Amino acid sequence: MEYSPAPENPALAFEWLEEHKSKFGLFINGKWCKAKSSKVFSTDNPANGKKLASISEAGKDDINEAVSAAKRAFPKWKALSGHERARFLYAIARQLQKHSRLFAVLETLDNGKTIRETRDIDIPLVIRHFYHHAGWAQLLESEFPEHTAIGPVGQIIPWNFPLLMISWKVAPALAAGNTVVLKPAEFTSLTALLFAEICEQIGLPPGVLNVVTGPGHTGSLLVKHPDLKKIAFTGSTGVGRLIREATADTDKKLTLELGGKSPFIVFEDADLDSAVEGVVDAIWFNQGQVCCAGSRLLVQESIAEKVIERLKRRMAKLRLGEPLDKSMDMGAIIAPIQKERIQNLVDRGKKDGGSRGDGSTVWQWEGILPADGCYFPPTLFTNVAPSSIVAQTEIFGPVLVSMTFRTPDEAVMLANNSTYGLAASVWSENINQALHIAPKLKAGVVWINCTNQFDASVGFGGYRESGYGREGGHEGMFEYLKKKESGITKKQLRFSERPVTTQKQEGGVALDRTAKLYIGGKQMRPDSGYSLSVVNADGSLAGEVGQGNRKDIRNAVEAAHKASGWQSSTPHSRAQILYFLAENLEMRTAEFRNRIMQLTGVPSKQAGLEVKTAVCRIFSYAALADKYEGLIHQPPMRGLAIALNEPIGVMGLVCPDEAPLLGMISMLLPAIAMGNSVVVVPSRPFALVATDFYQLLETSDVPSGVINIVTGDSAELVTVLAKHDDVAGLWVAGPEAECTDAKKFSAGNMKIIWTNNGKQLDWFDNLQSEGREWMRRASQVKNVWIPYGE
Ligand code: NDP
Repeated sequence: MEYSPAPENPALAFEWLEEHKSKFGLFINGKWCKAKSSKVFSTDNPANGKKLASISEAGKDDINEAVSAAKRAFPKWKALSGHERARFLYAIARQLQKHSRLFAVLETLDNGKTIRETRDIDIPLVIRHFYHHAGWAQLLESEFPEHTAIGPVGQIIPWNFPLLMISWKVAPALAAGNTVVLKPAEFTSLTALLFAEICEQIGLPPGVLNVVTGPGHTGSLLVKHPDLKKIAFTGSTGVGRLIREATADTDKKLTLELGGKSPFIVFEDADLDSAVEGVVDAIWFNQGQVCCAGSRLLVQESIAEKVIERLKRRMAKLRLGEPLDKSMDMGAIIAPIQKERIQNLVDRGKKDGGSRGDGSTVWQWEGILPADGCYFPPTLFTNVAPSSIVAQTEIFGPVLVSMTFRTPDEAVMLANNSTYGLAASVWSENINQALHIAPKLKAGVVWINCTNQFDASVGFGGYRESGYGREGGHEGMFEYLKKKESGITKKQLRFSERPVTTQKQEGGVALDRTAKLYIGGKQMRPDSGYSLSVVNADGSLAGEVGQGNRKDIRNAVEAAHKASGWQSSTPHSRAQILYFLAENLEMRTAEFRNRIMQLTGVPSKQAGLEVKTAVCRIFSYAALADKYEGLIHQPPMRGLAIALNEPIGVMGLVCPDEAPLLGMISMLLPAIAMGNSVVVVPSRPFALVATDFYQLLETSDVPSGVINIVTGDSAELVTVLAKHDDVAGLWVAGPEAECTDAKKFSAGNMKIIWTNNGKQLDWFDNLQSEGREWMRRASQVKNVWIPYGE
């Protein structure tokens, strides 16, 4: 039997375009206006190449206006009660629901994705997002009592899920009390403009949401605008890096949701029919233009032939064509340029398989592509080498690569063999095995026996070069909040005015006086052979410490990686070890008090208080180690999503000068309590406090390599840590220049960064220097989706 055409009627959408004479302006301060430059660009239907509308291109003056509108609107919007904001979000949800068919059709026309997907997946999820976040607005004061809105935020979204990305960004931002300037992608601005109309209709106060259309350049103007307090971006890792660098010398908050090359792992005991259907959803959903697409199929060797054969059979049945036809599985690719990119990568993949002989073969859907429009056939590469270009590069098209594995360990190794870490799917009827594998995967989302599941209550976001920050759920709300004013005012300075000298260590005499570095549980001489003098407050020489360099940092990072057992140890056992550490420090109170007194010149009472507070802080994190638990989300499905708080991995900690013991402890303890291993760069002028501290570590139960201490010039070592690809997180409590370098140079592998933005913290104040906020900074959330039932 043949399928008959089942077209969705697009009349409503064309009427809407007609009403606007197919011309659209910018939405700024609650009003529609032309771009100051009068520049326009056109948006086309990818399914037939026909023009849909002309759209204004926002330039610098327009961005300035939009940002100042958002800035003006912020205080009032923030001051509304949660309930009042909730009513607006709720009204948006209702309106979206009322116009859902118009939104679905318009999205399909502008993007080329099938109506089946916009109608049944995108728009219902958008609506759910606004309802869910109306709830967070309502509960903001009780659920996040210590937090408050950030300010006006800039949001830049891609073309693959235009309206859905609006909801992921706008709903939490508004719920938290922020105002927004939104830039949709150039290819797909229409639903953003219709969304702005909806906001206008429900009476959202002017300036709370502003929509500025335009190309990448418009986005970069937003990124650079000094009055925006946060940038939320979804798109390519390349642009994500540019944004990281462009905001390095600011205190803008950043969430980056970037690319992926997600593994889809099928074990031999999986339900193969379901798994094959899962592959279809994983890679051919939205023509594979999905950041979390399951684009790498890893199949256990024993079933590989069977799976590939079934997959080809299923592929042959896929229906590809007019996106408005309700019986189509796949629609059009967004634009010719994207199609060309996919084709180039496929050609390179074929070449790899042929000329370089990696043994891969390629198989493509053999149906007839529509004559007009921008279509690409579903494509399968089998038996690819893990290092080949098609196995490593995000193709962002309907291209699947497959490879085999023998053991679960090999599956994990292959799965993690990517610079990305957005999502992963695990297919096995053995739930023990699946749950054993999930925590080992470097990915922000793991779907067990399912794929591409999304919900407003479940955070989404990546590890590694897939970016950082989460969108959705409880964890996503933090991205649009900051801790309430904490009295951080003074500029952070290094105590550089002290006379310090650098000395070459000749022979053994000087070495004996020099406190060495502490790497892998051992005292190590610095590679440079140089030492730095440490002077007391009265100017006398207190001692010398090693001048660590790039090589020492490398060794320390390697040692930290070897201590990965710490990460998998139970929080209970980590807690025991930390309690013991606190006990040991307490026993040496007098020694540390004297050291602090002599070095910093503070009175004995103050130095004693610093040690006492440090002991207490270690106790607090020992206590928190097994209490910073995840959440269980209940998305609307038969199943659960478990939000696990996982350590970041190996972290660099560059410590402050003020309160040298307490400052270091306050950064070190949350990091290790959470299971990270660390490379500590202690305060340069008071480094002897840190070298005294490692003597304490030597008699503690903290495993070797968990804490490594490299003394030296922090300004230099920040850069080394920021550039190091095997460091996953970096915290800097130092002057502005060091904070900027940390952000700027960390864009390579998209480290998770926290800095004090050059402002002093009060390390004695528990509110700002201790607690769950620090555990949150030291962790990343992995959501594991577990469906149940038959
Ligand atoms: P981009 O990353 O270029 O675009 C994403 C958004 O950022 C768009 O709104 C874009 O505007 C804007 N933008 C572009 N350049 C800048 C800049 N310098 N500063 C600020 N904003 C900017 O993705 P593309 O659309 O070019 O797609 C290229 C590749 O990116 C795809 O092949 C895919 O691999 C990946 N991608 C990943 C996505 C994901 O969800 N992770 C989504 C989209 C793409 P405009 O569209 O107007 O140029």
